[in-house]
Amino acid sequence: MSDDQLDGTEPREEGVSGSAVFGTARGLIQRMRECSQEAYIKSDEQVVYLWACVTRTGFCNHSKDTDHPIAPLTLEDWLNVVDESATLGANWLILTVGDPLHLCPDVWELSRWAQESYGMTVGLHPKNGGLCAEDLEAIKQLDINNTRLLLREEWTDARKLAENEGIIVWTANPQPPGERPHCKGGTRMIFVNEHGILYTCGVVEGNSNYHLGHVLDKRLKQVVTDPKRPRWVEKSLHVVSENCDGCPARMAVFFS
Ligand code: SF4
Repeated sequence: MSDDQLDGTEPREEGVSGSAVFGTARGLIQRMRECSQEAYIKSDEQVVYLWACVTRTGFCNHSKDTDHPIAPLTLEDWLNVVDESATLGANWLILTVGDPLHLCPDVWELSRWAQESYGMTVGLHPKNGGLCAEDLEAIKQLDINNTRLLLREEWTDARKLAENEGIIVWTANPQPPGERPHCKGGTRMIFVNEHGILYTCGVVEGNSNYHLGHVLDKRLKQVVTDPKRPRWVEKSLHVVSENCDGCPARMAVFFS
């Protein structure tokens, strides 16, 4: 079993197109990308995880209450990020969401697209832990076997609530802060924040030394195959913090 499989299941067959919602053009693009997938699948740089850390402002283009110089990505942009990541081999989508899930309706659209079109497993990580009945109901509407809810260890009430609904809960913070993270670094991961900015991984978000560009600047393939792209963070920064919560490169170590 590959240690990049978080749940020990066999790799899923990717590229099972289904959603008619996005029309034939998207379906055609998707099939073209599937055809070129073989070329990357055996590469040492194969991407396994797409980790998107988002907020209501940055994730959904519905909110205008931002003075950030970079415009939020549209849902279509995010769907393209999923498409490209899947083409590169990603079979996990982790969505770390900084606002209550029910305020971010694109979460459900994007999760469904990843699951239905590519058979990806989706990890939902509500960063502040609050879950309402509406959130739980929406989670249950996803492919529940291919969904994980990532919650901090101490959020026992929320964990119990979700588990009582049959939702699989994983611990988002399996290590205390300050330790050396048991992780695989950014080698097989695409990390993107709510403004579409790519970094090596979550712990260095905002650090210009690990800024890899914007998702719309160039194809993700160029980013992940760029030899100048830092795949690991320097030792002094490689320390568990809250920014590591929900990181798939660490989840793989603890839950595979
Ligand atoms: S965010 Fe933390 S756990 Fe994830 S790869 Fe970076 S240092 Fe490791």
